[in-house]
Order: sequence, then C-alpha cells, then structure tokens
Amino acid sequence: MKAAFDVAIVGAGPAGISAACILADAGVKTIVFERGEYPGAKNLSGAVLYGYDLARILPDFAERKCPIERNIIESRIWYLSRDSGFSVGYRDAALGTERKHNAFTVLRAKFDRWYAEQAQKKGALVVPATVVVDLLRDSRGAVTGVATGRAEGEVRARITLLADGVNSPLAVRTGFRLEPKPEQVALAVKELIDLPAAVIEQRFGVSGIDGVTAEIMGGVTGGMDGVAALYTNRNSLSLSVGANLADFAATKIKPYELIEEFKQHPMVAPLISGGKSLEYIAHWLAEGGYDAIPRLCGDGYLIAGDSAMLFNALHREGNNLAMASGRMAAETIIEALGRDDCSRKALSRYGERLAESYVLKDMKKYRRFGRFMHHHKELFNEMPRAASFAAREMLTVNGVGKKQKQKLIMQNFRGEKMSIFRLARLLWQGWRAVK
Ligand SMILES: Cc1cc2nc3c(=O)[nH]c(=O)nc-3n(C[C@H](O)[C@H](O)[C@H](O)COP(=O)(O)OP(=O)(O)OC[C@H]3O[C@@H](n4cnc5c(N)ncnc54)[C@H](O)[C@@H]3O)c2cc1C
Repeated sequence: MKAAFDVAIVGAGPAGISAACILADAGVKTIVFERGEYPGAKNLSGAVLYGYDLARILPDFAERKCPIERNIIESRIWYLSRDSGFSVGYRDAALGTERKHNAFTVLRAKFDRWYAEQAQKKGALVVPATVVVDLLRDSRGAVTGVATGRAEGEVRARITLLADGVNSPLAVRTGFRLEPKPEQVALAVKELIDLPAAVIEQRFGVSGIDGVTAEIMGGVTGGMDGVAALYTNRNSLSLSVGANLADFAATKIKPYELIEEFKQHPMVAPLISGGKSLEYIAHWLAEGGYDAIPRLCGDGYLIAGDSAMLFNALHREGNNLAMASGRMAAETIIEALGRDDCSRKALSRYGERLAESYVLKDMKKYRRFGRFMHHHKELFNEMPRAASFAAREMLTVNGVGKKQKQKLIMQNFRGEKMSIFRLARLLWQGWRAVK
C-alpha cells in the first residue's frame, strides 16, 4: 500500500518537533501526533532550555518570538541539610551579552505550542488530541506507520519516529525498549509559584529579562537519591523536587510531602513568600543513563529524546538532547528517503551521528554517575548533616576555641559514621563517576 506520509512522528515534544522542522524544511511529507489537547498540554520540565541546539533548528528563534521567560545569567548550586545550607554561584555578564540565550527558562505549555507552530509554518502537519496506540508492521516486521485511537485511525508512513517521552508504553509493548526499571527513572514534582516580576528581580538581584537557576542537592529529598531545583521565570518561580522511583517505593515518602517540606526550607521559603501556587504536576525523568539507551532504530523506525532515555542527569540536560537527537534522526531520515531505503541498516547512521556528537559522548562519560548517586545515600543523609554541623560550629562565636571546635566536628563526623577513609573513598568514587 502506498504510504500517505513520508514520516509519522509520535509526540510533539522537543524531540518530535525538532525532527518535524528539519523534515518539513527538506520538503518531506510529515505528520506529528500529539496526545495532549495541544502540544505542551501534558509536558513538564524545570524548564531550562539551551539556545545552541534550538538555534541549529531555528537560527532565528528569538525573532520568531520564542516564549523565553528569563535569560539565565547566574547558576547557583545549593547543598542543603534539612534546615540549613551551603550555596555557591556563578554569575557572568557574558551570559547576558555575547553568550545570551546559552540557557533560558521557558514554560513548556507555552514553548511546545509555539515550537509546534513553527513546524506547522514550515509545512508539517501536527495533529493534537490523538494518541498513537500501536505501530503498523508489514509481513517482515518492518514498521509501516501508526494506529491511532481514532476511528479508522491508521496512518501509513515510510518511516516512523518515536519521540513520545520517557513513559512510552508503546515503545515497550512493541519491543523497541525494555520497561524502565524503577531505579532507571526518577519521579519529579513541580510547582509553579506566581510572583510579580519586580519581587522576583529584587529577591534574586536581577533586572529586565535576566534570571537565575538553583540546582539543589542534599537533605531535601528525604534521604533519597534525588535533586531539587528553583528557576526564575518572568512572573513565576518553578520549584521541582524529585527522587529515584525505587527510593520512593522503599521509603514510602509521598511526592507532595517532599515538595511541601522543600517549600518550607529556610533557603527556599523567603524566596517564594507571598507567592500563589499556579499549578502542580508530576512527571518521570529518564535517569538510566548510557546503559539504559535502547536500540535506536530498526526497519522503518527510529527513536529519539526521552523515549530513547537520552538524559544527562548531572547537567540536567534533556531538552537539548531531545532536540539534538530529533535533528539527527531527521537528517538520517532525509538521506534514507533519498536512497529509497528505510531499512535498519540505512537508518543506523542515526546511531553513528549520535555517537559522534556530544549527546552520546557525554552520556558515556557519565555512565557511572547514576549508580554512584544511587549507592551513596550518605550524600543525602550523613554528609549534609555533618557539613552543616561543621559550618554552624565554626561560625558560632561562643567562647569555645577553634581547636576544640575542630575536635567536636571530627567527633560528630565519627558519630555520623563518616570516617576520613569513607570520605576519601566517596571522593574517589565520585571522581571516577564523572571523570
Ligand atoms: C521535573 C523535570 C524537570 C526537568 N528539567 C529540565 C531542564 O531544566 N532542562 C532540560 O534540558 N531538561 C529537563 N527535564 C527533562 C526534559 O523535560 C526532557 O528530557 C524532555 O522533555 C524530553 O523531550 P522529548 O521530546 O523526548 O519528550 P517529551 O517532552 O516528554 O515529549 C513527548 C511528547 O509525546 C507525547 N506522547 C506520548 N505518548 C504519546 C502517544 N502514544 N501518542 C501521541 N503523543 C504521545 C507527549 O504528550 C509529549 O508531548 C526535566 C524533566 C522533568 C520531569
């Protein structure tokens, strides 16, 4: 049967729409299915986006009125105990001038909608409110299109791109990917807090469109392997906290309890004070790392973005990996269609492209990082407590000599079972996990 479309894409997130833009630019007849009422309706990120990968798809994204919330000029890292914390930050004027749009915040509901509109302007057909429920296959097992949940909803396509995100029952059921194990995904909750722009600017020491991010680790995840974040938007703050799904199951901590406690932390509460909660969503994150990446293509199909488990947890890079993989999938599809060869062999150039790029190089570099975090719960328990005790002692002037304080700190470290040997081993293993 003749295919109605050259390419069918499942999912109008950053991966799917990036591919759609490149394909439409090349005149490839492309259809994108999105289960949400509109692209972005069901999507969630922190959300920091990176200009580099977006500009490779839409060089004029700023002129196209990309809904940028704030351009990030300062990145903070916080290491918190339950009621105290350390903070380091890096602010750079260049990030507001020649490196502007290196990183910026967006609200996914607005951004994804805008991004899909750009693909539509280029000629891609984006069909919202439509769930792809299965893949069509020919007698040899090659994918020949998709079946949607609509009546008479089968659509033939020469190539199908799965860009349906981390929770992809479709990919799992069709054998593209294994069901993610609980330790390969994190469950994150995000709350959007409404605050006037002037209040945000005063509290974070920024002006105009400049913004700040804070990546947060330590005792705010209830002892579980996880992270939290606080990002500035124009008129709101994005707060998120998440932890490994296996840890949630083991500790029985409820995600909403975690975010409520996070909001009351003394480093967080003054920043969100007076704000009104606008929305609250939960979502999975692909945290399996390099070893969880599935086979990236087969006869008639490719898989990109979170669906392919492309997420760099250490640098919280997911949107850019989705865009880069969507672009590389599209470039590979264009070549394959040009040769009239949609076989796995022809499409395998996609995996090579990813391997040559920063996407797989970075994921490979950090392949041990997830395991390191998961097996070192002291990073979320004993360490922040002991570090906080040490700082509090040293900063308290109470007539006790510094030598005596040093002894107290060492005693406390031992009480937390943090020997010098254990610390040294932690540092060494941490270094090995990221080197
Ligand atoms: C709390 C949180 C914070 C994050 N923060 C950041 C951050 O600050 N920076 C960053 O770079 N990354 C961040 N990420 C990761 C980032 O959101 C993802 O890596 C990125 O969204 C992946 O894009 P994608 O297009 O692959 O998948 P998605 O964005 O998940 O898009 C998939 C799309 O497919 C649709 N879909 C799914 N199934 C079907 C189906 N069967 N039929 C039709 N449509 C379907 C979905 O509705 C969705 O629109 C964060 C993630 C979370 C959860």
